[in-house]
Amino acid sequence: MTPIDLRSDTVTQPTQSMREAMLRADVGDDVYGEDPTVNALQERLAHDLGFEAGLFAPSGTQANLLGLLSHCQRGDEYIVGMDAHTYKFEGGGAAVFGSIQPQPIVQAEDGTLPLDAVENAIKPVDPHFARTKILCLENTWHGRVLPRAYLAQARALCDRRGLKLHLDGARLFNAAVADGVAPREIAKHFDSVSICLSKGLGAPVGSVLVGSRALIDDAKRWRKVAGGGMRQSGLLAAACLHALDHHVERLADDHRRAKTLADGLQGLSKVTVAGQHTNMVFIDVPKEHLDPFRAHMDAAGIRMSIGYLPRIRMVTHIDIDDAGIARAIDAFRAFG
Ligand SMILES: *Cc1c(COP(=O)(O)O)cnc(C)c1O
Repeated sequence: MTPIDLRSDTVTQPTQSMREAMLRADVGDDVYGEDPTVNALQERLAHDLGFEAGLFAPSGTQANLLGLLSHCQRGDEYIVGMDAHTYKFEGGGAAVFGSIQPQPIVQAEDGTLPLDAVENAIKPVDPHFARTKILCLENTWHGRVLPRAYLAQARALCDRRGLKLHLDGARLFNAAVADGVAPREIAKHFDSVSICLSKGLGAPVGSVLVGSRALIDDAKRWRKVAGGGMRQSGLLAAACLHALDHHVERLADDHRRAKTLADGLQGLSKVTVAGQHTNMVFIDVPKEHLDPFRAHMDAAGIRMSIGYLPRIRMVTHIDIDDAGIARAIDAFRAFG
């Protein structure tokens, strides 16, 4: 029985046609800027999202780090959500490698950072304080699409207070598909955006940072420093281009399946659905049922990520079809 892997949208296997696109890729040494496929990917995402330039990176963590290192100097500060990936799940990289201090803010339930709290966190210009330089948002956040009116307000605040605005857009395409807008309608509010091709888009490896030409020139230097300068990485970029051609619109299927899953878990006694947004479903299982729950789902071949977040998160993706969702729901209902 093939397992149904609900842990994350990072677990996907490259499709056969994606592998074929990788085999066909024209490649060169990207540290010399000579990989035509990497260049095509960078130019395409920069163009589609409304920026001057893009930079291919091996991970979203590195793309965010390169953005922060390029916007900030040692002793600068970024304002970020308390539960944001760029604060909590990236090993403190900005502080470790950039001497950039995070100023975390508690996120509202919808994933926004309340703008009065952001404004209160901006430090006065004074030798006592780090220099507040940038605000980082995340969209989607725990699957939630940030309201576009909020993005405009955040942009206005950054303009008024002289801050840059960075988007951790690991799942920007999920947000765009859910909202029925072009990704650039979301990206246009930001000075830089990182995108993951290795999440719902289904590529094996790869993220891209987009921004101004000057920012990307800096980021390219930092990528080399961080050990992220790759050589014939067009093999990977080809998978990413294939994903952009074939896997964007189908994100709507993941969102629909997440809703089917959430609906199918209504009325259970030991499992409560806490929310469903885009391709994610969050559930609560009381502590006393957790061990049996884990064992039951294991035995049913349903892979779950338990213990990383306060709530159990399930994520739909290209390798889970309608039958997989039905099997997952059956397993839940058998548990009760
Ligand atoms: C996955 C993810 C990243 C980057 O993760 P990598 O595993 O380093 O590619 C960044 N932000 C968010 C919100 C993510 O979900």
